[in-house]
Amino acid sequence: MGLSEINERIAKAEQDAGRVGQTTLIAVSKVQPAERVEAVLQEGHRVFGENRVQEAQDKWPAWREAYDGVELHLLGPLQTNKARPAMELFDVIHSVDRPKIARRIASMAQELGRCPGVFLQVNTGEEPQKAGVLPSEADAFVAEARALELPVLGLMCIPPVDEHPSMHFALLAKLAARNGLEGLSMGMSSDFEQAIALGATHVRVGSAIFGARAGTA
Ligand SMILES: *Cc1c(COP(=O)(O)O)cnc(C)c1O
Repeated sequence: MGLSEINERIAKAEQDAGRVGQTTLIAVSKVQPAERVEAVLQEGHRVFGENRVQEAQDKWPAWREAYDGVELHLLGPLQTNKARPAMELFDVIHSVDRPKIARRIASMAQELGRCPGVFLQVNTGEEPQKAGVLPSEADAFVAEARALELPVLGLMCIPPVDEHPSMHFALLAKLAARNGLEGLSMGMSSDFEQAIALGATHVRVGSAIFGARAGTA
Protein backbone atom coordinates (compact mmCIF):
# COMPACT_ATOMS: atom_id res chain seq x y z
CA MET A 1 0.00 0.00 0.00
CA GLY A 2 2.43 2.66 1.12
CA LEU A 3 2.57 5.95 2.93
CA SER A 4 0.84 8.22 0.42
CA GLU A 5 -2.19 5.95 0.08
CA ILE A 6 -2.57 5.72 3.86
CA ASN A 7 -2.29 9.51 4.15
CA GLU A 8 -5.03 9.85 1.54
CA ARG A 9 -7.29 7.39 3.34
CA ILE A 10 -6.73 9.23 6.62
CA ALA A 11 -7.57 12.56 4.99
CA LYS A 12 -10.78 11.08 3.57
CA ALA A 13 -11.78 9.52 6.92
CA GLU A 14 -11.10 12.82 8.69
CA GLN A 15 -13.21 14.68 6.15
CA ASP A 16 -16.09 12.23 6.50
CA ALA A 17 -15.92 12.61 10.28
CA GLY A 18 -15.60 16.41 10.20
CA ARG A 19 -12.23 16.09 11.92
CA VAL A 20 -9.82 17.47 9.32
CA GLY A 21 -6.19 17.54 10.46
CA GLN A 22 -6.90 16.00 13.84
CA THR A 23 -5.13 12.65 13.43
CA THR A 24 -1.45 11.85 13.82
CA LEU A 25 -0.22 8.89 11.80
CA ILE A 26 2.26 6.76 13.72
CA ALA A 27 4.14 4.57 11.23
CA VAL A 28 4.79 1.33 13.12
CA SER A 29 8.26 0.24 12.02
CA LYS A 30 8.83 -2.70 14.38
CA VAL A 31 10.64 -5.64 12.77
CA GLN A 32 10.65 -3.96 9.33
CA PRO A 33 13.78 -4.07 7.17
CA ALA A 34 15.86 -0.89 7.35
CA GLU A 35 15.36 -0.04 3.68
CA ARG A 36 11.57 0.10 4.07
CA VAL A 37 11.86 2.45 7.04
CA GLU A 38 14.39 4.63 5.24
CA ALA A 39 12.09 4.89 2.24
CA VAL A 40 9.34 6.28 4.47
CA LEU A 41 11.81 8.68 6.16
CA GLN A 42 12.86 9.87 2.72
CA GLU A 43 9.24 10.51 1.81
CA GLY A 44 9.27 12.97 4.69
CA HIS A 45 7.37 11.08 7.39
CA ARG A 46 8.78 11.62 10.88
CA VAL A 47 6.45 9.97 13.42
CA PHE A 48 7.24 6.32 14.12
CA GLY A 49 6.21 3.65 16.58
CA GLU A 50 8.14 0.72 18.01
CA ASN A 51 7.14 -2.13 20.30
CA ARG A 52 10.39 -2.97 22.05
CA VAL A 53 12.83 -0.70 23.83
CA GLN A 54 15.89 -2.76 22.89
CA GLU A 55 15.02 -2.93 19.20
CA ALA A 56 14.38 0.82 19.10
CA GLN A 57 17.66 1.53 20.88
CA ASP A 58 19.48 -0.48 18.23
CA LYS A 59 17.82 1.24 15.27
CA TRP A 60 16.77 4.80 16.02
CA PRO A 61 19.79 6.75 17.33
CA ALA A 62 21.40 6.58 13.86
CA TRP A 63 18.19 7.63 12.07
CA ARG A 64 17.73 10.48 14.52
CA GLU A 65 21.22 11.68 13.55
CA ALA A 66 20.42 11.39 9.84
CA TYR A 67 16.89 12.88 9.80
CA ASP A 68 15.68 15.99 11.63
CA GLY A 69 12.50 16.02 13.64
CA VAL A 70 11.97 12.31 14.28
CA GLU A 71 9.28 11.64 16.89
CA LEU A 72 9.28 8.17 18.46
CA HIS A 73 6.35 6.46 20.16
CA LEU A 74 6.60 3.34 22.33
CA LEU A 75 3.60 1.06 21.75
CA GLY A 76 4.57 -2.19 23.47
CA PRO A 77 4.54 -3.27 27.12
CA LEU A 78 7.18 -1.66 29.31
CA GLN A 79 9.08 -3.49 32.04
CA THR A 80 10.05 -1.41 35.06
CA ASN A 81 13.75 -2.11 34.48
CA LYS A 82 13.47 -0.59 30.99
CA ALA A 83 11.74 2.60 32.12
CA ARG A 84 14.89 4.69 32.09
CA PRO A 85 16.11 3.84 28.55
CA ALA A 86 12.54 4.07 27.29
CA MET A 87 12.14 7.56 28.74
CA GLU A 88 15.48 8.64 27.28
CA LEU A 89 14.60 7.43 23.80
CA PHE A 90 10.85 7.89 23.31
CA ASP A 91 8.82 11.09 23.01
CA VAL A 92 5.53 9.40 23.88
CA ILE A 93 4.70 6.14 25.70
CA HIS A 94 1.33 4.62 24.71
CA SER A 95 1.52 1.53 26.88
CA VAL A 96 1.31 2.71 30.49
CA ASP A 97 -0.79 -0.25 31.51
CA ARG A 98 -0.59 -0.58 35.31
CA PRO A 99 -0.03 1.56 38.40
CA LYS A 100 3.40 0.08 39.06
CA ILE A 101 4.83 1.31 35.76
CA ALA A 102 3.12 4.69 36.18
CA ARG A 103 4.88 5.09 39.55
CA ARG A 104 8.19 4.00 38.07
CA ILE A 105 7.91 6.52 35.22
CA ALA A 106 7.02 9.28 37.70
CA SER A 107 10.06 8.59 39.85
CA MET A 108 12.37 8.40 36.80
CA ALA A 109 10.91 11.70 35.61
CA GLN A 110 12.09 13.30 38.86
CA GLU A 111 15.56 11.93 38.24
CA LEU A 112 15.75 12.85 34.55
CA GLY A 113 14.02 16.21 34.87
CA ARG A 114 11.72 15.40 31.95
CA CYS A 115 8.94 13.00 31.06
CA PRO A 116 7.53 11.72 27.78
CA GLY A 117 3.82 12.22 27.18
CA VAL A 118 1.86 9.14 28.20
CA PHE A 119 -1.26 7.30 27.11
CA LEU A 120 -2.89 4.99 29.63
CA GLN A 121 -3.76 1.60 28.15
CA VAL A 122 -7.24 0.20 28.73
CA ASN A 123 -8.03 -3.47 28.15
CA THR A 124 -11.42 -2.71 26.61
CA GLY A 125 -12.07 -6.37 25.73
CA GLU A 126 -11.20 -7.51 29.27
CA GLU A 127 -8.91 -10.17 27.79
CA PRO A 128 -6.86 -12.01 30.43
CA GLN A 129 -3.68 -12.09 28.33
CA LYS A 130 -3.83 -8.44 27.29
CA ALA A 131 -2.15 -5.46 28.94
CA GLY A 132 -4.07 -2.50 30.32
CA VAL A 133 -6.43 -1.69 33.15
CA LEU A 134 -10.04 -2.83 32.99
CA PRO A 135 -12.60 -0.26 31.86
CA SER A 136 -13.99 -0.19 35.41
CA GLU A 137 -10.53 0.78 36.71
CA ALA A 138 -9.84 3.48 34.13
CA ASP A 139 -11.13 6.50 36.08
CA ALA A 140 -9.04 5.58 39.13
CA PHE A 141 -5.98 4.98 36.97
CA VAL A 142 -6.31 8.38 35.30
CA ALA A 143 -6.64 9.99 38.73
CA GLU A 144 -3.57 8.17 40.01
CA ALA A 145 -1.48 9.11 36.96
CA ARG A 146 -2.51 12.74 37.35
CA ALA A 147 -1.68 12.66 41.05
CA LEU A 148 1.80 11.43 40.03
CA GLU A 149 1.97 14.48 37.73
CA LEU A 150 2.46 12.39 34.61
CA PRO A 151 1.69 14.28 31.38
CA VAL A 152 -1.38 12.19 30.49
CA LEU A 153 -2.28 12.76 26.84
CA GLY A 154 -5.10 10.26 26.64
CA LEU A 155 -6.11 6.60 26.51
CA MET A 156 -5.00 3.73 24.29
CA CYS A 157 -6.56 0.38 23.38
CA ILE A 158 -5.95 -2.69 21.25
CA PRO A 159 -9.35 -4.32 20.59
CA PRO A 160 -9.77 -8.11 20.56
CA VAL A 161 -8.91 -9.52 17.12
CA ASP A 162 -12.21 -11.37 16.75
CA GLU A 163 -14.65 -8.57 17.59
CA HIS A 164 -15.87 -5.48 15.78
CA PRO A 165 -13.40 -2.78 16.84
CA SER A 166 -15.96 0.04 16.77
CA MET A 167 -17.57 -0.78 20.11
CA HIS A 168 -14.11 -0.78 21.70
CA PHE A 169 -13.22 2.55 20.11
CA ALA A 170 -16.51 4.02 21.30
CA LEU A 171 -15.92 2.74 24.83
CA LEU A 172 -12.41 4.21 24.91
CA ALA A 173 -13.75 7.55 23.64
CA LYS A 174 -16.40 7.55 26.37
CA LEU A 175 -13.85 6.82 29.11
CA ALA A 176 -11.54 9.57 27.82
CA ALA A 177 -14.32 12.14 27.54
CA ARG A 178 -15.57 11.61 31.05
CA ASN A 179 -12.02 12.10 32.34
CA GLY A 180 -11.46 15.24 30.29
CA LEU A 181 -8.81 13.62 28.08
CA GLU A 182 -8.45 14.59 24.41
CA GLY A 183 -6.04 11.93 23.20
CA LEU A 184 -7.23 8.62 21.76
CA SER A 185 -4.59 6.17 20.52
CA MET A 186 -6.62 3.63 18.56
CA GLY A 187 -6.83 2.11 15.11
CA MET A 188 -4.33 -0.06 13.22
CA SER A 189 -3.92 -1.17 9.59
CA SER A 190 -7.26 -2.94 9.41
CA ASP A 191 -9.46 -0.43 11.24
CA PHE A 192 -7.90 3.06 11.37
CA GLU A 193 -10.76 4.63 9.41
CA GLN A 194 -13.32 3.39 11.92
CA ALA A 195 -11.09 4.69 14.71
CA ILE A 196 -10.92 8.14 13.11
CA ALA A 197 -14.72 8.16 12.78
CA LEU A 198 -14.91 7.57 16.55
CA GLY A 199 -12.39 10.25 17.50
CA ALA A 200 -8.87 8.75 17.21
CA THR A 201 -6.13 11.36 17.56
CA HIS A 202 -3.31 8.85 16.98
CA VAL A 203 -3.58 5.89 14.61
CA ARG A 204 -0.87 3.23 14.72
CA VAL A 205 -0.39 1.77 11.24
CA GLY A 206 2.34 -0.74 10.40
CA SER A 207 1.79 -3.38 7.74
CA ALA A 208 -0.45 -1.21 5.55
CA ILE A 209 2.46 1.22 5.12
CA PHE A 210 5.51 -1.05 5.14
CA GLY A 211 4.12 -4.40 4.04
CA ALA A 212 3.75 -7.58 6.07
CA ARG A 213 6.20 -8.12 8.89
CA ALA A 214 8.52 -11.11 8.72
CA GLY A 215 7.03 -13.97 10.70
CA THR A 216 3.49 -12.58 10.80
CA ALA A 217 0.54 -12.89 8.50
C1 LIG B 1 2.16 -3.79 15.67
C2 LIG B 1 1.25 -2.83 16.31
C3 LIG B 1 0.50 -1.92 15.54
C4 LIG B 1 0.48 -1.93 14.02
O1 LIG B 1 -0.15 -3.06 13.54
P1 LIG B 1 -0.55 -3.22 11.97
O2 LIG B 1 -1.66 -4.18 12.00
O3 LIG B 1 0.66 -3.70 11.28
O4 LIG B 1 -0.96 -1.88 11.51
C5 LIG B 1 -0.29 -1.00 16.21
N1 LIG B 1 -0.34 -0.95 17.55
C6 LIG B 1 0.36 -1.80 18.32
C7 LIG B 1 0.27 -1.69 19.79
C8 LIG B 1 1.17 -2.76 17.73
O5 LIG B 1 1.85 -3.61 18.50
